[in-house]
Amino acid sequence: MQFQDVAGQSQIKHLLVRSAQQGRIPHAQLFSGKHGHGTLPMALAYIQYLLCEQPSPQDSCGACAGCKKVGKFSHPDLHFAFPFAAKDDKDVAQNHLEDFRAFLLKTPYGSVESWHEFNSGESKRPAINSATTKAILTEMSQKPYEGKLQFMLLWYPELITHGMANRLLKSIEEPPPSTVFILVSEEEGKLMPTLLSRLQTIAFPKVNDFDLAAYLGNNMGLELERVRELVNMADGDVDYALSLGNVQEQLAVFFPFFRDWMRGAYMAAFHESIELAEVFQKWGRTQQISFFQYGLYLIREALVFKTSNSLSRITELERSWLERFSGSVNAAVAESIMQALENGLQGIAGNAHQKTEFIGVTIDIYRSFKLGNQ
Ligand SMILES: [Zn+2]
Repeated sequence: MQFQDVAGQSQIKHLLVRSAQQGRIPHAQLFSGKHGHGTLPMALAYIQYLLCEQPSPQDSCGACAGCKKVGKFSHPDLHFAFPFAAKDDKDVAQNHLEDFRAFLLKTPYGSVESWHEFNSGESKRPAINSATTKAILTEMSQKPYEGKLQFMLLWYPELITHGMANRLLKSIEEPPPSTVFILVSEEEGKLMPTLLSRLQTIAFPKVNDFDLAAYLGNNMGLELERVRELVNMADGDVDYALSLGNVQEQLAVFFPFFRDWMRGAYMAAFHESIELAEVFQKWGRTQQISFFQYGLYLIREALVFKTSNSLSRITELERSWLERFSGSVNAAVAESIMQALENGLQGIAGNAHQKTEFIGVTIDIYRSFKLGNQ
């Protein structure tokens, strides 16, 4: 993630870049504020800047090997600790890293609650357990693999299990060489005062309306009028604006797009599909992932309709289409389309070329329909 992908907060970006260029990188920093104000995306953009091989005075290059690895959240010198619902005493955050990467790709502005739902949804409360804290402190006592610096990104340090915060404090007081701790906290008041006093704190204000509007315009492809509505409601919180926008977006953008796409694949109208692929290509990866999720949701509803003849969770617009759609495909075809959408989702999450992936999925869906007509 680059600074340009983070909504607003230009003063903080400026501060981080300047201190990096002067070689003043505090070894223990706290990014403090609401998750929707961008604390985590900013931490990721900052780390990418510091691990970039050719940073400009404004941003990381986005193209070098360092940037690419941080972009996929898989740089060997970037370590994560985050809360999760442990299966047992030995379960560590590392075991949930694949899921965490997928979550970051989908919604870097997400909260610990939405992460928890994404990861497990169990009733057990998420925490950074003792095994995780021990594991990361051991890891951080090693030298960096590649660069001069290694990073420990601690998301929600206020959820470190009781007693282990002292271990962390000790490590921060006597830091291993070349190590930078970045704590991203929503409620810094819950951190130990002794720990707080060791941290260089940056407080994150609301994202201002102008920056929020620009971000939503770029990332959601909504009309100006809708963007204005969202900005008025969201009060500078990107996560909240996105979740409000998702509901609107699905109806305003995704539904007609999905309907036309299915029709094009059914009729084998490939020139139409290519046009849709051009539109799809312009969306952000987050929006593309949401689109496939939306498609999966609709087809699943079509299957429910087939068996129970009832639809509860959808709008009138979707209903009339779904009724016709579920009448024209059998369960095997619907399953096959869902598999194609699932593959597309994985492809986009795994950094596949977007237009190529979209066309590949279109062909799979065309084949699914053909299968049903034989
Ligand atoms: Zn770079």
